[in-house]
Amino acid sequence: MALNATHDPELRSWVEGANDPATEFPIQNLPFGIFRKKGKNERPRGGVAIGDQIFDLAALGLETGPILNGFAAAGPHAWAEVRKGLSQFLSVKNYRKNLAKHLTPMRQAELFLPVAIGDYTDFYAGIHHATTIGKLFRPDNPLLPNYKWVPIAYHGRASSVVVSGTPVVRPNGQAKPPDAPAPVFGPSRRLDYEVELGFVLGPGNALGKPIQIGEAEKHIFGVVLMNDWSARDLQAWEYQPLGPFLAKSFATTISPWIVTLEALEPFRSAPFEREPGDPRPLAYLSHEKDRGVDIALEMHLRTAAMKKPVRLSRGNARDAYWTPAQMVAHHASNGCNLRPGDLLGSGTLSGTTPGSLGSLMELTSGGRTAIELSGGQKRMFLEDGDEAILRGRCERDGAASIGFAEARGRVLPARPAR
Ligand code: CA
Repeated sequence: MALNATHDPELRSWVEGANDPATEFPIQNLPFGIFRKKGKNERPRGGVAIGDQIFDLAALGLETGPILNGFAAAGPHAWAEVRKGLSQFLSVKNYRKNLAKHLTPMRQAELFLPVAIGDYTDFYAGIHHATTIGKLFRPDNPLLPNYKWVPIAYHGRASSVVVSGTPVVRPNGQAKPPDAPAPVFGPSRRLDYEVELGFVLGPGNALGKPIQIGEAEKHIFGVVLMNDWSARDLQAWEYQPLGPFLAKSFATTISPWIVTLEALEPFRSAPFEREPGDPRPLAYLSHEKDRGVDIALEMHLRTAAMKKPVRLSRGNARDAYWTPAQMVAHHASNGCNLRPGDLLGSGTLSGTTPGSLGSLMELTSGGRTAIELSGGQKRMFLEDGDEAILRGRCERDGAASIGFAEARGRVLPARPAR
């Protein structure tokens, strides 16, 4: 993929809001989502975010229905054609007269999950996160021996992936306090978030037929923000020997707009720089042109007592040890069939500085040191009424800055345990 006319930083839209330097949706972004007008009894349908408006894809004759899986399955050539068309229709002023009627102000719109997610897999590619968490348990040997060889993941639960804005009920579950003789069942006391990216898959592969690393990006429709809500007390008690289960499956929040890899083209980065002693990736995970993504990720928290959210962290997706293509190629390397709309999480993306840590587990050193918020409030883990707001933004000299909107969710009290 290469830069083309759709990335031109000088390009402007006749949709005024798209030319605001603060917008996340200039004409160079054009992310896809599913929307309908609030309070109307109409069917959700495909749209593209442009400034403070949503442009109805039906105006181009693209009838997606209430999910984008069909469009995701159509592949990179189809996505690029639609993007090119959108870029022209939304920039050339002469189209305004006929097309303005296909706009819906975002504040009047309701957004939905953009795809039906058949399967959801969560990787563990954030090496600094894996190291920091590993240190809590194994100070001398934080990374397990397989980490730099194999992109580690677990199969998550697709049914509880929700779109930004959906409240998250504090889960009940089984946990064993260190000093207690037996586990107890009740509300999680160590509810956390995880700052991640989600990769939404496009065309799948036939069962038994792996995806070559050089082809892997053709199978990625785009990128969303993802908060992998985690109950650390449930996790600590249940995760051995088979990995996370109920500590993760109660909710995963994603942002509503899928930013395509083509839109991200100006913000691709070199793959993670391996240390001299690190193994080279095995051949099926190696490709000379493989790249990462440069996306700044910020977690903000708004407690019930706050008017405005405070920022807890700012990290970057460049801190992923494995690239999106490596995750896809590895996932399909055993012949596992991936399907359009499948969601692959990156794993928690943390940097090496305190201000860049992507979970409370890291920010509080495993629940030992509370963080100070404004107004004298403190947090060890999330409390009822807290709202976690994940934001993402791409910036680079010579390119129009694009954003991801947000993945937001507020914690509601647990239901009675029995
Ligand atoms: Ca995770």
